[in-house]
Formats: sequence, structure tokens, C-alpha cells
Amino acid sequence: MNIHEYQAKALLKGYGAPVAEGVAILKAEEAEAAAKSLPGPLYVVKSQIHAGGRGKGKFKELGPDAKGGVRLAFSIEEAKAHAKEMLGNTLVTAQTGEAGKQVNRLYIEDGADIARELYCSLLVDRSVGRVAFVVSTEGGMDIEAVAHDTPEKIHTIAIDPEAGVTAADIAAISKALELDGAAAEDAKSLFPLLYKAFNEKDMALLEINPLIVMKNGHLRVLDAKMSFDGNALFRHDDVKALRDETEEDAKEIEASKWDLAYVALDGNIGCMVNGAGLAMATMDIIKLYGKEPANFCDVGGGAGKEKVAAAFKIITADPKVEGILVNIFGGIMRCDVIAEGVVAAVQEVGLKVPLVVRLEGTNVELGKKILNESGLAITAADDLDDAAKKIVAAIEA
Ligand code: GDP
Ligand code: MG
Repeated sequence: MNIHEYQAKALLKGYGAPVAEGVAILKAEEAEAAAKSLPGPLYVVKSQIHAGGRGKGKFKELGPDAKGGVRLAFSIEEAKAHAKEMLGNTLVTAQTGEAGKQVNRLYIEDGADIARELYCSLLVDRSVGRVAFVVSTEGGMDIEAVAHDTPEKIHTIAIDPEAGVTAADIAAISKALELDGAAAEDAKSLFPLLYKAFNEKDMALLEINPLIVMKNGHLRVLDAKMSFDGNALFRHDDVKALRDETEEDAKEIEASKWDLAYVALDGNIGCMVNGAGLAMATMDIIKLYGKEPANFCDVGGGAGKEKVAAAFKIITADPKVEGILVNIFGGIMRCDVIAEGVVAAVQEVGLKVPLVVRLEGTNVELGKKILNESGLAITAADDLDDAAKKIVAAIEA
């Protein structure tokens, strides 16, 4: 789960991180009071959407010459004018896709005088089984481009979970970021507190791009992207409360209501499976036969008929789906329940694309009987290979 920049900054501020004062607003009329509450004379008006690259983004409605989604304002009047122009419009950035995202919230922040823009993120480095800092002096810009063109400018410092962030770690990070003076002093508290926040809140990613050195020599968190491990959200009601469903894919929200794992992908075969391993195998074999999955929905172990029907409806709601492959191994899950759920969903929403079903395991004969007697145009498959071949052939026909 992702949250907005202003929420992430408030969370970090609670841990003692240096962030600017700011006020989030939903209406343009609130801009004046928000700016007046800040020290000035420089303000920053920032679009709050769950996507990066806002500064270089463009508003669809405003034309190519208008300013982007992060704007400096040198007076309260200018901050007001920016807010009025930005709110309600659609921001297209390198991360939003062509459709862009409507800006429904702004964050008005006290502006900083920037000397240097750095990159600092924390993530779970699976190769070493540790939380690691990834840092670079080349902040503010597209870090993927830095990683591609000048990988030697990116430094990874993994943290020993038992020792935490040690003085040696802080020194290594500070050296990589070429920090000195007040910034090196600030680093001594900043990096340990980022690590503490990351662990305590079960984050999956914390990205500060840029972390800045201000003209006065001190560090400040200028941008913050935070994602949380969905499996740990149950123990963080404070984090759950920050969820903004308007930023999320409607199908993913529906899936999470049913406790289904739904993942949207780029191809055109919709997949209903049970278990992550079978999901991976199903996607691999679709690719082997030359097609790409549009999504997969994992109905898990003990789903009932209603849950299976919900999963099927979510899969078919994706307009990219040209064919559906149901691939279930009934262990705890029973094949007749899957069959009943599929039939119920098809009766409700219809079936506009080819459907191939491969069932194996508990109650498989009963499941096949239900499908055969349903009168629906379902192609039965004998095994995984047969199923993939059949769905690929069906959408190519
Ligand atoms: P992003 O484009 O979505 O990553 O948004 P950021 O919050 O990273 O802002 C983009 C850029 O705007 C930063 O890299 C800075 O160059 C600039 N910017 C943001 N806040 C300030 C500020 O307080 N002062 C100045 N001078 N520039 C800022
Ligand atoms: Mg940024």
C-alpha cells in the first residue's frame, strides 16, 4: 500500500526527521490560509498523487507551456494562483501512464534553498536478507537512468539487523553522499531514524528523492515515497487510516475486499489460479506459448463459491482480457466449488471471450460435471501444457 508524500513526511516528522512545515489542502480557497501559516517567502505547491516525476509532469488540460506538478511560488498570491490552476486537473508524469492522474490534493510547503540534491532509499535487499540503504549523490532526477548510465554512483549499504545502523554504517552512507559539516552531523540522527521508521512500520520501500543539503548546510527530506507491506497492515491501524482508495485500481480494491490476490499485468490472458506457485507456473507457460498474461487472481485455499465468482468478475472486468485460463489444483480448495463459482459468475456477467479450464485434485470429476452440464462454452483441458496451448490457440483464432 502506498501513501501520499505529505502523509509520509508527517510520519517521518514523528520520528524526528527534518521536514519542512506544510499544509495539505483539498480546495483552492484553502491555499491562502495554508500559505499564510508558513514562514515564507518561498512556497512550494505540490500535487499529491501516488506517482513520482510530478515536477517534470504536465497537466493535460493546461497545454505544453504550463508549469508542472511541483511549483515554486514567491508570494502568497502566486501560491494561490498555482493552487487554483492545478487542483482538479490531470497530471501526466513518466509514472502515471498516458491517462494521468487527477490532482485532488495539494501540499503547500515552506520552500527550501537547495545546495545539493541527493538520493536515499531503504528497501529489503533480498540478495543479502537485510534492509539496505541505497544512496547516490545524483538525486532529484531519474534514479533508474543513473543506475543504468553510471552504476558506480549508486551505493548500497546493508544493515545488520542485530546491530542496527552503526557509526560505521553512518560513516559509509555519509561518505557515499559526500556529506560534511552540519549535514554530516544531521546524518548521525537521520539515518538511524529512517531505519527505525522503516522497520517499525513494516515498510517495503522508503524513497527520499531528493534528500537535500540546504544552503545553510543542513539536511532536509524534500520528497518522500513510502510503500508498506500489505501482509503486515493488520498491525498498523495508523497506516491503514492513510489509505486513499481514489488513487488505487478499482479492481485491486474489489479484490482486497474479498481477500483475493489480484495483480494487473500487460498482456491479454486473464488467469484464475490458486496458490502463488501455480500462478507463476501458469504465467510462465503462457509466455512459453508466445502470449502474455493480462492479470492473475489467486483465490487461495478455502474460497467459497461467492469468492470464486467475485474473482472471475474481477478478471473479466479488464478490457484487455481476450481469453481466460482457469488453472486450479484442488487440495484444500474443491474443484466443484470452483466450477460452481465460475458458472455463477458467467451466468451473471456473461462470457464474451474464450474460457479454458483445467481442474485437478479434490472432487475433480464433480467439478467437470458441473461445467459440462452448465451449457456454457467452456473448453476443458487435461493438464497445464494442454491448457496453455488451448487458450493461446483460442485467442489467436
Ligand atoms: P517529484 O518530481 O514528483 O519527484 O517531486 P519532488 O518533490 O522531488 O520535487 C521535484 C523537484 O522540485 C525537486 O527535485 C526540486 O528540484 C524542486 N523542489 C521541490 N521542493 C523545493 C523547494 O522547497 N525548494 C526548491 N528550490 N526546489 C524545490
Ligand atoms: Mg522526487
